[in-house]
Amino acid sequence: LVNKKFHPEDSVIEVGNTSIGPGRLTMMAGPCAIENHDMVIETAIAVKKAGAEFLRGGAYKPRTSPYAFQGLEEEGLQYMKEARDETGLNIVCEVTSLRALETAVKYVDMIQIGARNMQNFELLKEAGRAGIPVLLKRGLSATIDEWLNAAEYIASEGNPRIVLCERGIRTYETATRNTLDISAVPVIRAKSHLPILIDPSHATGVRAYIEPISKAAVAAGADGLIVEVHPCPSCALSDGPQSLTFEQFEQLTENLKPYAALA
Ligand code: PEP
Ligand code: MN
Repeated sequence: LVNKKFHPEDSVIEVGNTSIGPGRLTMMAGPCAIENHDMVIETAIAVKKAGAEFLRGGAYKPRTSPYAFQGLEEEGLQYMKEARDETGLNIVCEVTSLRALETAVKYVDMIQIGARNMQNFELLKEAGRAGIPVLLKRGLSATIDEWLNAAEYIASEGNPRIVLCERGIRTYETATRNTLDISAVPVIRAKSHLPILIDPSHATGVRAYIEPISKAAVAAGADGLIVEVHPCPSCALSDGPQSLTFEQFEQLTENLKPYAALA
């Protein structure tokens, strides 16, 4: 179902009040984690002003340590919904379990299945049955074929609204948090009709690398970006070093314009 062989035309995926696909550059931005009410609303207003169409933010955080901040869960989703009502932004949130999925569908426009859950087949099947648009990230060490099979799990349950997201893969390199596989953009284009976004934040883990990587992504033909933005990156409860300030995000969207025009 996700194979280009049987669906040669690139898909445009309708999500909330917009669509994702060829011919347009979708910007998603927001904090790694929803930390409190005010930071969500403040970030929503800032990223909307800079041109984002989606507010991202984690209410269920898949953290390496069980002692690290795990997310506000449903309370966080309520803040995201309020941010949507206030700004008109579409909302995307990660779900890490079947229970989280059941709750999140009441609040968000799109669910995210994160790298760590890309092969959580029960979650994929349930996301397929839920019928809500899905942002499917590539697993930390998943091949492109494994990733497309994960998308197939969602599609085969009757949900065609899937957007892929390359967020870097595990390699021997330690200078960046992950290694962005920029080839994933043309490879996915050749193999699938689904849109593909790039997450330069988790791909690099370093704020200073976000802009060059984003330019490369757009020039390579990515359909959009999902970027971490925080009102005070040095105060962030997670992923501060890779988060942009509001000003830096605004600068990024501005500096990407010539690349988007070329793509
Ligand atoms: C995220 O986007 O918040 C996240 C945890 O990303 P990933 O699943 O790509 O690590
Ligand atoms: Mn993060």
